[in-house]
Amino acid sequence: QAYTSLEEPLTETTRMDRDHILLTPGPLTTTLRTKLAMLKDWGSWDTDFIAVTARVRAALLDIIHGADTHVLVPLQGSGTFSVEAAVATVVPRDGHVLVMDNGAYCKRAAKLTQLMGRRATVVPQAEEAPVSPAVLEQHLKSDASITHVVLIHCETGTGVLNPLPEIAALCQQHGKGLIVDAMSSFGALPIDAREVRFDALVAASGKCLEGVPGMGFVFLRKAILAGCAGQSQSLAMDLHDQHVYMEKTGQWRFTPPTHVLVALDEAIRQFQEEGGRTARLARYTQNYRVLVDGMAALGFKPFLRPEVQAPIIVTFHAPAHPNYEFRRFYEAAKARGFILYPGKLTQVETFRVGCIGAIGANEMRQAVAAVADTLREMGIPSGQPAN
Ligand SMILES: *Cc1c(COP(=O)(O)O)cnc(C)c1O
Repeated sequence: QAYTSLEEPLTETTRMDRDHILLTPGPLTTTLRTKLAMLKDWGSWDTDFIAVTARVRAALLDIIHGADTHVLVPLQGSGTFSVEAAVATVVPRDGHVLVMDNGAYCKRAAKLTQLMGRRATVVPQAEEAPVSPAVLEQHLKSDASITHVVLIHCETGTGVLNPLPEIAALCQQHGKGLIVDAMSSFGALPIDAREVRFDALVAASGKCLEGVPGMGFVFLRKAILAGCAGQSQSLAMDLHDQHVYMEKTGQWRFTPPTHVLVALDEAIRQFQEEGGRTARLARYTQNYRVLVDGMAALGFKPFLRPEVQAPIIVTFHAPAHPNYEFRRFYEAAKARGFILYPGKLTQVETFRVGCIGAIGANEMRQAVAAVADTLREMGIPSGQPAN
């Protein structure tokens, strides 16, 4: 509807008849094929739908080479539902979880752990850097009561990439369980279950696989499965129960998100056609480069150093110019067809731009042009931050 607004001057991009491009960390821009896959009703008990569930589960296991070591348990709901379910299923009620906190999603994981009655120790870390394996190891050595570590792979709050292989090796060495929130990295960044040991790894339909939002999924290590029985204090979020039922019947325990699943099935087909994870990472990396180079030319400065930045979402400092106001900036970019994302930092004013979704270098160039146009409209000569 933004394109028909009479207040907004029509630019080259706004004349195009297309959806807004979502430069967010989910929901993301999806392809027409993925959207069209949803135009059909499915019976949850029907053999055709059961086959889709089985196909998606197998395809997801393939992405991490996990068929020998892990099972894949899907769950209704947004990604957080699956993080919560993973913690409830994997951590005993008297367990003790260590959360290395370098951002908003770490804080969310710590909070849900505590709300479910599990003891949690939160170790504050700098937001602009990856969590420190050395600090993690100190805690594992000094507190024997710790049973599990929760790690956010790509901390979407800033875009920083945390060192999964190093943390996984330490957990294995010290005999601790590891739960990984790989929501914004799975499908793009490398995760190989043959090389990196984890008890649970969580992701969702509407992130780098470019499906629509509405279901999460958890890779559970086969060796810990039996011990998970009865640990969850929740009926709906018990992944062990969901797994047992699904193995027995091929069905989901409760009403499945049918349209979301068939859209994910179609999205995975396109993922495979594109060339799988490495091709997806290459496209996102190119999106990231086009974005940061284009924004740098406008004076904008990323919050993170490039060495610690994942090519998933970029946090930019807000321009120092007094005319800047995020809400106006957002609305003006939206009128040009691009949906930006607010910052999530408390100390510095920032905004975020996602590099993921069914978009490529062209869309990123158009996004930068829309931002340039937006700055002109707001009378801001440069995106230069305060210092
Ligand atoms: C998107 C995301 C989630 C899940 O968020 P929902 O809003 O519940 O889908 C969890 N962790 C990370 C790191 C994410 O990027």
